[in-house]
Amino acid sequence: MSTVLVTGASGFLALHIVGQLLQKGYKVVGSVRSVSKAEELGFEFSQKLGHKADNLVFSIVEDIAVSDAFDKTFKLHPDISYVLHTASPFTLGQTDFEKSYYDPALKGTFGVLNSIKRYGPKVSKVVVTSSLASLMNFDKLTDPTFIHNETVWNPLTKDKVQDSVAAYILSKKLAEEAAWNFVRDNDVNFSVTTITPAYILGPQYFDKNAGAKKLNQSNQLITNILDWNPNQPFVNNTRTGLCVDVRDVAALHIIPLEKPGVEGHRLFPASGLFTDQDILNIINENFPQLRLPTGEPDDTENPFGYSNEKTVELVGGYNFIPLKKQVVDTVQQILDARAAK
Ligand code: NDP
Repeated sequence: MSTVLVTGASGFLALHIVGQLLQKGYKVVGSVRSVSKAEELGFEFSQKLGHKADNLVFSIVEDIAVSDAFDKTFKLHPDISYVLHTASPFTLGQTDFEKSYYDPALKGTFGVLNSIKRYGPKVSKVVVTSSLASLMNFDKLTDPTFIHNETVWNPLTKDKVQDSVAAYILSKKLAEEAAWNFVRDNDVNFSVTTITPAYILGPQYFDKNAGAKKLNQSNQLITNILDWNPNQPFVNNTRTGLCVDVRDVAALHIIPLEKPGVEGHRLFPASGLFTDQDILNIINENFPQLRLPTGEPDDTENPFGYSNEKTVELVGGYNFIPLKKQVVDTVQQILDARAAK
């Protein structure tokens, strides 16, 4: 079976990708930042997957922003055939935008492609995790006639960035552009596919991670609602949300490795629109014992325009996990993990 490098293997999404690859029998090299993280994950995967985890090894890459960071990985593992580049900083609130967002996203993407070019002779397919961020248009979020799809690009530029949310968003666009430019400008033997997921919800790969004080950035949207102060009126903050389940995003990273004709495209995983009130309604319906506020249950209008028909057609049809299951599975896992503490 082929060997796949998954960068940022300790991340929320990447753990699902690694798990799905191992279940399918692939050999996996996961890049993580420290030996202790490698040891911890090696143990957890073997607890969960038994002998299938024997196909998992780790490579230590402390900082993807350092040039040549991945050279060593390819020199040590010349059998790598596919690369899934998921590593990128997704922690909002940092103030040094260059160091915290642009450098790791951009240099990390350029760096891994450059290392493949020099030291990855067997690599034939590369999948880069981009984001809805790289196709969304801030001026069109509430214009339902503007369709965000696989062909559009975020017009955001550095001079317009004022906060860490915008800096993260721009970092994803710059990194995706860098990937497409790299294959256009270099004589390489591999294809690039980019994945532009909507907001990723869904359970943690390892149940115990759901008990953490702070979950991964995107699932904090659910914990913020779950932990709403019952004495405060509910505020429907997110009104133009588009989401997708982490299990589907992981699966869509693997399809380009297996289905001819998918590589070289931009895939847009998205299951549907949501507002914070939609999430609150689902929690209230399924977990009434939590006694959360009701908010305004009918206040769920979301004008965001999108289409991912091209993606669904390219992959030969796909049924995305609906919002209700994303929320119920996530909340149940969090409650169980908290109860087990
Ligand atoms: P996580 O923060 O859970 O995972 C990010 C991973 O990247 C972690 O393993 C992290 O390592 C690693 N990483 C970050 N910076 C560096 C660095 N400088 N050097 C080495 N490793 C680094 O985020 P997600 O799983 O949510 O995101 C995974 C990918 O999906 C990212 O590319 C993100 O932009 C993209 N994405 C996520 C969405 C979402 O809603 N979650 C939506 C659309 C796209 P460590 O934890 O050790 O720092």
